[in-house]
Amino acid sequence: MIEALRAIVGDGNVLDAAELATRSAGAWRMDKLKAAALVRPKTTEEVAQVMRWCHAHGVSVVTHGGLTGLVHGSDAAADQVIVSLERMREIEEINPRQRTATVQAGVVLQTLQEAADAHDLSFPLDLGARGSATIGGNAATNAGGNRVIRYGMTRDMVLGLEVVLADGTILSSLNHLIKNNAGYDLKQLFIGSEGTLGIITRLVLRLREKPLSHNVALVAVPNFVAMGKLLKHMDRSLGGSLSAFEAMWQSFYRLVTTAPAKGRPPIAQDYPYYVLIESLGAERESDAARFNVALESAMEQQLIVDAAISQSDADCHAFWSLRDDVGQAMQGGLPVVFDISLPIDEMEHYTENLRSTLPAAIGEHKLWIFGHLGDGNLHIVVQVKPQDYLAMRPKIEALVYQPLAAFRGSISAEHGIGLEKKPYLLISRSEAEIAIMRSIKVALDPKAILNPGKIFSQNSNS
Ligand code: ZN
Repeated sequence: MIEALRAIVGDGNVLDAAELATRSAGAWRMDKLKAAALVRPKTTEEVAQVMRWCHAHGVSVVTHGGLTGLVHGSDAAADQVIVSLERMREIEEINPRQRTATVQAGVVLQTLQEAADAHDLSFPLDLGARGSATIGGNAATNAGGNRVIRYGMTRDMVLGLEVVLADGTILSSLNHLIKNNAGYDLKQLFIGSEGTLGIITRLVLRLREKPLSHNVALVAVPNFVAMGKLLKHMDRSLGGSLSAFEAMWQSFYRLVTTAPAKGRPPIAQDYPYYVLIESLGAERESDAARFNVALESAMEQQLIVDAAISQSDADCHAFWSLRDDVGQAMQGGLPVVFDISLPIDEMEHYTENLRSTLPAAIGEHKLWIFGHLGDGNLHIVVQVKPQDYLAMRPKIEALVYQPLAAFRGSISAEHGIGLEKKPYLLISRSEAEIAIMRSIKVALDPKAILNPGKIFSQNSNS
């Protein structure tokens, strides 16, 4: 196998099991990579040749981007081949008039953000892992992140895709148009499929005009009902420029504003909820004035009880780095991380119920809640002692996931299913929906060699 793969991509671009075992398994992981080989193709044609060989020999393939996923969606087994897109990092074109970027799938998100910025454009997908996550991985998992409320998920930013199918067929669907209703929109099948239907090799992405003004506030809110009202108030008052509405429960705010965290609290730490509010606009002075008027009016209505408003880019950065400092959850224990989705009207009851049921079920723990409130997406982090992790994890999952069934909430708003959430898929998808997913998988990958066993098992009994 190693020799055959080296003949395709070159000697230096195939790592054997021993060589790849020195690499980390990814973000927030203690273990190392495992696989029979790791292949690093440079072009779509090389990916296609690798897939032709693996298809002919019945070898399963797991695709790797930046390894920033959190659901074990890119774990490989000892007899599988990893196709890493780390050498496919070319930004092929940025077209300022059409406002598109054509890139190879291994381009790092932040690299594309900076390249678009240099053309006075913006690629608005943004998330904490921007420095490692790849565009191909963002598309394969339909990544969400911080600005979904304004720009949508990755799905909404992809115009076209090139994909290598399980048998090595290259499906070129590199549409450049915003509107194209000529039949099925095939790219959508692959976006969010977590590498189970094809390997995304190139993408055409929609860019936006670069915002010229940036206003950020960190505000304290007296209760949950006020937070929901504040979201509507700011969205209405800002006339379409609201670009983030990031909620933080008190315990999370304390975590990221208290040593050993680097951040310090811009406002006092004893309020129940905090929100980072961001507006992106086009005119510095008038946008700042409108932002401030909206906040003042919210204060008069007692939707806000305290606020720090950015006066500089450094302030904007400091407020955002509090929200992004999720890594603090790694201090002093092991975190179980969730990305659930539910209606805003259900959130307060849901989170209070979780807070009250956790102690009896798992004993000593820490609970932090934050998230993209405007999208109905909460991140819940339950930290336990390392020695308790394996025993407590299923109990925590049951307490987080089971209550979602009552209102058809989602077990995954943005991280995907991978291996981690497979047992709970039926909470968010019906039997009929999963049956169609299986049919599509069989149609595109009849030998089940692409990331097998992720999202759901091919056998309907498991
Ligand atoms: Zn998130």
